Amino acid sequence: MKTIAIFCSSSEILAPEYYETAKNVGTLLGKYGHSLVYGGSDLGLMKTVSGAARQAGAHCTGVIPQLLADRGLACNKVDKQIITPGMHERKKMIEDLADAFVTLPGGFGTYEELLEVITLKQLGYHKKPIIILNTLGFYNNLLTQFDETYKQHFAKTFTTNVYEVCTSEEQIFEYINAYKVEQIPDKWY
Ligand code: AMP
Repeated sequence: MKTIAIFCSSSEILAPEYYETAKNVGTLLGKYGHSLVYGGSDLGLMKTVSGAARQAGAHCTGVIPQLLADRGLACNKVDKQIITPGMHERKKMIEDLADAFVTLPGGFGTYEELLEVITLKQLGYHKKPIIILNTLGFYNNLLTQFDETYKQHFAKTFTTNVYEVCTSEEQIFEYINAYKVEQIPDKWY
């Protein structure tokens, strides 16, 4: 049983497929006996994924900064809600609590969370699995930018092993189950 961090959108007006996928992820997370740690709000894909995870029996921890809690955005149905002074402490708390990071489609908040865990892993700060769920090809353009990054030597190609791109919800959990910690080479040329 692992604690899985899910980074995902706070938007309430996405195409229905994104909510269906988030629901499946939450349900599978609970079905496989994992716990959830996430942004702690009751909005968008975060609301869907945590609702489904709770319904499937998963222990859910939200980690929300004071500013957002003061705006009434904290979900009051989670098993535990941790309030942090700011965004930095919140990200660090989620990173420390999680055994694996799963990124569903999202906006800038989600990109920031994904890129931070990739950056920390390529520097050797952690060795946890990172998964990008590419629902409806949402991340194709970002992945093309990553390819350009390797092509022009802004990053070494080993970084492709630092994260896994999945196209189905089941694949996420297969990857996490089979995950083996590998030595991360030096990122520098
Ligand atoms: P975004 O992709 O810009 O919607 O941001 C979503 C990500 O940023 C989530 O994974 C959260 O951790 C964080 N976040 C953004 N907005 C909120 C919110 N209203 N409440 C809690 N967390 C949020």
